[in-house]
Amino acid sequence: MITVVGSFNMDLFIEAPRFPAPGETLFGRNFRRASGGKGANQACVIARMGHPAAIIGAVGRDAFGDEMLNNLVANGVNTGGVERRSEVASGTAFVTLDATGENQIIVANGANDTLSAADVSRQSELIRQSRALVTQLETPLESVEAALRLARELGALAILNPAPYSDVPDALLALCDWIIPNEHEAAKLSGLEVRDAQDAAKAAAVIRKRSNCPNIFITLGVNGVWLDTPQHRHHLPAFKVEAVDTVGAGDTFIGAFVTKLVEGADAREAARFGCAAAAIAVTRRGAQASIPTRAEVEKFLGQ
Ligand code: ADP
Repeated sequence: MITVVGSFNMDLFIEAPRFPAPGETLFGRNFRRASGGKGANQACVIARMGHPAAIIGAVGRDAFGDEMLNNLVANGVNTGGVERRSEVASGTAFVTLDATGENQIIVANGANDTLSAADVSRQSELIRQSRALVTQLETPLESVEAALRLARELGALAILNPAPYSDVPDALLALCDWIIPNEHEAAKLSGLEVRDAQDAAKAAAVIRKRSNCPNIFITLGVNGVWLDTPQHRHHLPAFKVEAVDTVGAGDTFIGAFVTKLVEGADAREAARFGCAAAAIAVTRRGAQASIPTRAEVEKFLGQ
């Protein structure tokens, strides 16, 4: 099993001809909603890759909470570790899209902000049963730290996707077996500019020095991934596809990579599998809706 400790967000989209001015009301169209949140997305990917997945997190006792949980259950994710809160709403994101496709987003973290270290510790049995634990930075730092510490203690690989970036102490990074930022997060973590694989190599060296973490991958969008482990120090290019929507590419990469890794693949082979899953996802719209199945990834790789 792989356990994810992370966020749930209901994304609410509306299209408008332009963004409204303060105090203005505009008519838009095409309202739609989609289950998201990096934690939920990554758990969904692991399950679609055919691996047992569990999630530890918090949602409100509201309709969006029901919908997000039902959606993960339908994908086969164990949601027994999710807290329901009566006093706070589920995490919600308001996304406005203008005619050019530019967006404005407001996120109300809601229940995600209530996930405590104690909530995570209460679910230690899930972590004990897991080969790997994956966490991000959309829930409070105390929940992330508790998750990484428990993974260490209970023998699961501790994997941090430091997204979205926030200032993290070196001591927290030191709890990780893997740190997987994208180029923006790697730039913030290292204090260097990261635009290509050469920059990523330098950033990875700084992050390693800060954290003493043995394995660092930096995802570079259309440019693939920089792999930095004791066995590998090289660039893995992305697969060439016609991208229509790159939302959720990082989540798909991580979920698919971790699945393959715990199945015993070497880091490079697992990263290639992650790139293939993410390449398929960017050819489709949506976050969870764009996640491929394992069969699709294997077909893509000609396996
Ligand atoms: P994030 O979504 O966290 O910003 P990235 O944009 O770095 O993450 O994407 C993660 C991975 O998804 C990349 O390493 C790459 O393998 C794949 N990917 C992203 N964008 C594309 C693209 N346009 N074409 C092919 N693969 C892509």
